[in-house]
This record gives sequence, C-alpha cells and structure tokens, in this order.
Amino acid sequence: NLKMGIVGLPNVGKSTFFNTISKLNVAAENYPFCTIEPNEARVPLPDERYDWLCEAYKPVSRVPAFLEIWDIAGLVRGAHEGQGLGNAFLSNIQAVDGIYHMCRAFEDDEVIHVEGSLDPVRDLRIVADELRFKDLERAQRALADAQARLARAGQQAPKELRLEDETLQKVIEILEKEEKAIRHHNWNNAEIEILNRHLFLTAKPVVYLVNLSERDYLRKKNKWLLAIKEYAGEDPVIPFSAALEAHLVDLELNDGREAMENYRSQQGIHSALPKIIRGGYQALNLINFFTVGADEVRSWTIRRGTLAPQAAGTIHTDFERGFICAEVMHYDDLREAGSESALKAAGKYRQQGKTYEVQDGDILLIKFNV
Ligand code: GDP
Repeated sequence: NLKMGIVGLPNVGKSTFFNTISKLNVAAENYPFCTIEPNEARVPLPDERYDWLCEAYKPVSRVPAFLEIWDIAGLVRGAHEGQGLGNAFLSNIQAVDGIYHMCRAFEDDEVIHVEGSLDPVRDLRIVADELRFKDLERAQRALADAQARLARAGQQAPKELRLEDETLQKVIEILEKEEKAIRHHNWNNAEIEILNRHLFLTAKPVVYLVNLSERDYLRKKNKWLLAIKEYAGEDPVIPFSAALEAHLVDLELNDGREAMENYRSQQGIHSALPKIIRGGYQALNLINFFTVGADEVRSWTIRRGTLAPQAAGTIHTDFERGFICAEVMHYDDLREAGSESALKAAGKYRQQGKTYEVQDGDILLIKFNV
C-alpha cells in the first residue's frame, strides 16, 4: 500500500490536521484483516464517479477507495545529526511514498513558533534541508562503498558498477552544489533504476499544505502564498485551514452530514480536504478502477500503468493467478450511455487480455479459472 506522510516543523498544525482526518477513517469492517495503527489514517477518496455508481446500482454494500496517511512527528533543525529524535523521524519518512509538507502561515501569538517568528518559506527550507542533508550522507556512504568495490574489481569492473559510481557522484553534486532535491532533476532510466535502490528522501513526491487562519483561507489571501508557490516550483501547493477543517468534521460527526453541508453553503465555505486527498493520490500516481453490482460497488486503488491481471490481483490473488480476461466498460461511457445495456448496444463493452493497462475510471469484471 502506498502512503503519504505528514511532515513539518512542530506547531504548524500537523496533529490538528491528522486528528481531523482520523475521524474520517473508512469503516474497518471492510478491511477485516488490516489493523489501523495509531499514527495512521485511512481517508476515503472523494470521488463523484463512485458516488454516481452507488446511486445507479444501489448496492447492499459500498466500499470507497482510501488514501493512507501517516503522521510523522515534528522534525526540527539538526534532525539529520540526531537532534530531537531526528533519526527516528527521518526513518519514518523513509517508510512513506510521498510527503505532505505542512507549514504554518497563520498568525497566533498564543501558538509558539519554534523558530521564533512566522516565515513559512524559511520553515520549508529548514525541513527540506534536513532531508537533503540526510540524502547527502547516504549518497556519500554509498559512493564510498561503490568506489571501494570499483577499486577491488580494477579493470574487470562491470559497467553497472561504473554507472552506479557516476550516478552517485551526480546525486551528490545536485544535493550539495545545486542544493536541489533529487526529484527536481531529470534522470534517465538507467539512473532511475540505481536511485530506486537507495530510497532517497528528496526523491519522494511532495505536496505542500499551507495552514492559514480561517479568515485568510476564506478570503483566499495571505501574504506568504506567492513566495511559497515560488519556492515550491512544480510541486503542488494547497492552502487550507486546519482549524476550519477540524470544525467542519466535528460538525458533521455531531450533527450529521446534512447539517454540516447546510452550514458550509450558508457560510460559503469550501473544504480543502477533497483537494488535499486527491493531491496525495496524484502525487503517488494512483488511479481507481471499480467493480459494480447489486451486492457491492467498490472503488479499488492501483498505480497508474498496472496491467489487468495485477489489477485483478488487488481484488483477490486467485483472480491474478487464474486470470483469463477482463470485461471492461469505462465510467465515462456508462455515464454517457445511461445504462449497461445502452453501453453494450453502443459497442463500448470490451474484453481485454493480460496486456491491457487498466485506465482510471474503468469498471472491471474479471473472468478467471479457479
Ligand atoms: P503540530 O505540532 O504541527 O502537530 O501542531 P498542532 O496541530 O499541535 O498545533 C499547534 C498549535 O497550533 C495548537 O495549539 C493548535 O490548536 C494550533 N493550531 C493548529 N492549526 C491552527 C490554525 O489553523 N489556526 C490557529 N489559530 N491555530 C492553529
């Protein structure tokens, strides 16, 4: 399972946000064999396609897709040197596949700032630098190791080892001289294969979450936003308000969804949660396919590029082992045709084999041998 981790300096709103999304955890009865850890949240993916399918099939049971999000406790300056449990934090970041990097852009004299003043770009740099320093240490160790092996091999050194040596030197150059994250460099396939073996922290996709005051969030204005977007470059930036999201979720849990929606529309409030969850999904390169029927409508999560047998395997390992074919209709075609029979009449119901790459929004029926 691919997962996002929430990372940021202390007191930026990580726990507030994590506690809020934890209250939305998908119903555990759908996942009888997986326990949820205290620092893990499974947040249903907001998806109007899934909502529509549930409405159309009116199934007995419905299971949405979810995004797995981990809370990674506060990172501080000097973490890579072991400051304030630094190494434990960094190894937790190691275990996630993408990062929600949260910063604080709300003023509140009651909430202490670890760096003494409000400056989100400086804060983002502090955390990014810690990750970069950690990668640099790791790359230097790996390079020393590769060079020792090169020296032992002498003239017989395989091409693979030379390429590893060159790639690691390039990694060090990018981290140290250019002060860049590994994800911000264009690597070729051979290099990517080597990078994948080292699990560098700055290679992971990042989504920036900017915690604003309710007021700034609602008026869509904050004096730091432009600088943050400039700093983020191509990485997505999502402004939100942790306090506001907490309020909305509590309202929903206490007074019901309808009461919350009423309040939201009266006040003209848009929750940023759907955007945040979809942003994490995109960062991890995840897509959905669906299975539908009178008994169950379910949304499944796979990585973009997954072939039909492996997609079938996420439903059940037998489906992958005995895979014969998949009968496929696309959500958009179903929506347009209005019904399965109209879709079939339009010739949009297709049989796909083992080499079919499942597309976002496919509805699958797997045929398999037992
Ligand atoms: P963490 O250390 O990053 O996990 O931060 P917390 O979630 O514990 O938040 C630190 C403090 O900031 C707490 O006192 C929160 O109540 C407060 N806080 C969090 N989000 C907001 C916000 O959006 N606005 C304001 N004014 N305070 C917030």
